[in-house]
Amino acid sequence: MATECNVNLSRQNKMKQVTDSTNYDKYPDIQTNTNTQNGQDITIEELQANSSGQAGKTKVGIIGGGLMGMALAYRISELNTSVKVFESDSQLGGLSTHHDYGSFTWDKFYHVIVPTDGSLINLIKDIGLEEHLRWSRSFTGYYVNKSFYSLNGAKEFLLFPLINIWDKVRLVFTIFYGGRINNWKKLETITVKDWLIKMGGKKNFIKFWEPLLLAKLGENYKRVSAVFIWTYIRRLFKAREHPVEKDYMGYVSGGYKTVFDRLSDRLTEKGSNVLLNTSVKSIMPLSDGGLEVRYGDKVEYFDKVIFTAPINVLEKVTSPDLFEIKKTDKSVEYLGVVCLALVTKKPLTPFYVLNMGDVNTPFTGVIGISSLVSSEETTGNYITFFPKYIPSNHDYWGMSDEAIEEIFMSGVRNLYPGLEDEDLVSTHINRAFKVQPLQVLNYSSIIPKIKTKHPDFFILNTSQFVNDSVNNNRVVQHVESFMEQIAEELKTKTI
Ligand SMILES: Cc1cc2nc3c(=O)[nH]c(=O)nc-3n(C[C@H](O)[C@H](O)[C@H](O)COP(=O)(O)OP(=O)(O)OC[C@H]3O[C@@H](n4cnc5c(N)ncnc54)[C@H](O)[C@@H]3O)c2cc1C
Repeated sequence: MATECNVNLSRQNKMKQVTDSTNYDKYPDIQTNTNTQNGQDITIEELQANSSGQAGKTKVGIIGGGLMGMALAYRISELNTSVKVFESDSQLGGLSTHHDYGSFTWDKFYHVIVPTDGSLINLIKDIGLEEHLRWSRSFTGYYVNKSFYSLNGAKEFLLFPLINIWDKVRLVFTIFYGGRINNWKKLETITVKDWLIKMGGKKNFIKFWEPLLLAKLGENYKRVSAVFIWTYIRRLFKAREHPVEKDYMGYVSGGYKTVFDRLSDRLTEKGSNVLLNTSVKSIMPLSDGGLEVRYGDKVEYFDKVIFTAPINVLEKVTSPDLFEIKKTDKSVEYLGVVCLALVTKKPLTPFYVLNMGDVNTPFTGVIGISSLVSSEETTGNYITFFPKYIPSNHDYWGMSDEAIEEIFMSGVRNLYPGLEDEDLVSTHINRAFKVQPLQVLNYSSIIPKIKTKHPDFFILNTSQFVNDSVNNNRVVQHVESFMEQIAEELKTKTI
């Protein structure tokens, strides 16, 4: 677990060496014998004033106000510390943030909680939102040859005309067997396509799995290893009595905004706080321990700093004396998402996920959030997401929202010819450039290995998930295992 958390528990010994060998000439603001501010010597009183924490409490700075940063901030603020979260955006949440849809706000991208998301559900309960947690039956559909098929429960599955009974048995076997594999390392060496064909046959692959892979990864699935589908099967089917039993999915009333608002309130109650619209520009070590964080024209001092933003930001803003990054000659490719959110007066789809067996649609799936979420949450309207997962060199990144909307809307009208203009309330194009790494063959050997070199600096982010998809349950688990190892250390005052 230690490698996953980037927590090097033997850092204390190393630190002496690192501090001694630090080339402070690179940092004109830092002198070896005194603490400094903008090149001026400052007194310990001034330093404490700039650290603006509550007297006697350890001051912890957290970079990034996504779920990783906010869940961490919440847990750490319970340790009698003073926490400050820096978020560059104007609202909390990162990829789980909310969007203004006109008459209501909801998540910018679709998010659901599955019953096996134990760590996430515990966090939601801990912050007093258990009563806001809602569960709904989720339905899965499949679109092929201009027809919609419902694929829910054993009966519909058995009646699904595109797969014969023998292939259905093999499909159930794949899910059942896949859910019980523990040694994921072996799965890294085989493509997801080859593994699924080996397990369940070619027909199952073409009719069932390929549309699902296309929905999540587009054509890029061809380079992805079997670990991808293994994590998917485990998350969705773990702890089910039978893999094709009916399933439930959850959300928090008000969407993730409710969760972030509550986390923020809890921080305030503990005397900690969040700075929005605050992009951290640099993080540097102080000569006598602790770190300085610069943002805008301000500088602030912390006993500990925890970094949760993406790795490219880490490399840009953090002093090289604080971390070490070992890259291989192969770089990690990321997929981003371009997503049309359509608000309508009438429900568009009964399915939470409609897998597309039709390669001509411009989006790679249809996510009917309103099939789960009560229309009271969306002022009587319905919201449907049409995502397309694309690599960083895709033409869409250079296109205007209007141009993308036109392409996606023509796909929507082909799929739902009954959709009338008067039923349309609004359309929204949202994008996220880096959403998930492409888990190519032997992915765990190509991800950059990042290690902190300073006892007061920690790095925690999703780029280090080697055998899991990027999801919020995993994020909370990551925070929990970090806290288990480091809670005591976080209580120590440095400056
Ligand atoms: C389309 C889509 C669908 C998804 N569906 C689900 C789902 O159904 N269920 C699920 O569990 N998960 C889902 N996820 C995944 C979920 O959104 C992520 O797991 C989660 O948001 C990751 O949180 P994070 O805090 O690690 O990273 P992020 O959310 O990326 O947060 C990092 C934060 O750091 C901030 N930052 C960056 N640079 C700086 C700087 N210099 N100074 C200060 N702040 C900075 C960013 O603004 C951002 O807020 C989905 C994601 C997407 C995109």
